[in-house]
Amino acid sequence: MKKALSILATGALLATAVGCSSGSGNADGNEKPQIGVAIYKFDDTFMSGVRNAITKAADGKAEVDIVDSQNAQPTQNEKVDLFITKKMNALAINPVDRTAAGVIINKAKTANIPVVFLNREPLADDMKKWDKVYYVGAKAEESGTLSGEIIAEYFKTHPEADKNGDGVLQYVMLKGEPGHQDAELRTKASIEAVQNAGIKVEKLAEDTAMWDRVKGQEKMAAFLAAHNDKIEAVFANNDDMALGAIEALKAKGYFKDNKFLPVVGVDATAPAIQALKEGTLLGTVLNDAKNQGIATVNLATVLAKGEKPTKENVGYDITDEKYIWIPYKKITKDNLNDATQ
Ligand code: BGC
Repeated sequence: MKKALSILATGALLATAVGCSSGSGNADGNEKPQIGVAIYKFDDTFMSGVRNAITKAADGKAEVDIVDSQNAQPTQNEKVDLFITKKMNALAINPVDRTAAGVIINKAKTANIPVVFLNREPLADDMKKWDKVYYVGAKAEESGTLSGEIIAEYFKTHPEADKNGDGVLQYVMLKGEPGHQDAELRTKASIEAVQNAGIKVEKLAEDTAMWDRVKGQEKMAAFLAAHNDKIEAVFANNDDMALGAIEALKAKGYFKDNKFLPVVGVDATAPAIQALKEGTLLGTVLNDAKNQGIATVNLATVLAKGEKPTKENVGYDITDEKYIWIPYKKITKDNLNDATQ
C-alpha cells in the first residue's frame, strides 16, 4: 500500500513537472508561458533600454524572469542552469561572451527548451546546432555605414572641418568590446563609408573603451594629449563612449566659442538625443531597443507554446529560419523624432 501511494505521488509530481514545461497549466494555475531572460550586465545603457522593452512587451503575454549575468559567463551559465531547473518554457539570452553560446545551446537542447539570443550574435556554426535556436539583433555593418555617412556628409559640407587643409580626414576611433560583432563591424564599416564617399582617411588613434562612458572620456583625453589639434573627427561605436569623448573635449575648450569637432555614436539613447539637441553630438544611429525587445518576447512566446515561428505569429520577418533583423536609422538634429522609443 505504502509503495502504491508513493508511486501515485511520484506520478502526480511528474504530471506537474510536465505541465510546467509545456507552459499550459503550471502548479499555480498560471497559463502564461515562462521565459527566462539573462542580460549580459544590467549596467549597460543600451541593454537597459532593451530590458525595459522586454518587460513592457511581455505584459499580459508572458511571465519574464530577467536576471543580471554581471558580465561574467560562468554566472550566466549558472543562471541558465537555474532556468532549466525551473522548467522555463523558453530562454532569451544576451550572451556575455558570444563565442560561449554553444554551451548554452547544448544545455537548452538537452532540456528541450527553445532559446532566443539577442544583441550579441552567436557564431554561425553554433546557430546551426539546433533548429530551436534564434537570434534577434541588428546588422552591425549597417550602423557603421550610417555613422560613417554622417561624418562624410559633414566633412564635405564643412570645408573648415579639414583643419590642416590636407584633404585627408584625420580621425580617432573609440571601439566597443573587442570581439563583439558591433565593435568589429562598426569600426570597419564606418571608415569604409567615409572612403566610399571619396574622402581619404588617416587613423590617428584607436582604442577600446568597452562601451563605457567613463572609459570613453579617459581614452579621448589620452587621444587629445597625444594628438590635440590634429584630430578632425571622433568615431565611437556607441553613444555612451561618444558622450564620454564629448566630456573630454569640453574639458579642452570644445563646443564653445566656435570650437567644434564632429563626434558620432550609435544607439540614440536619451542622453545622446539631448546632446544632439545641445549641438555637441553631430549624429547617431538608432539601435532600436524597443523593437528588439518586442521581437524577442514575441518570438520566445511563440516558441514557448511549441509553435513554429512565422512572420504572422511573431510580427517580424524571419531570415534563414533563424534571424530577426531590426533595421537601424540615421539620426541627426534634423530627424530627432524618429529616435523616439
Ligand atoms: C550597443 C552598445 C551596447 C552593446 C552591448 C551594442 O549593440 O550599441 O551600446 O553596450 O550592444 O552588447
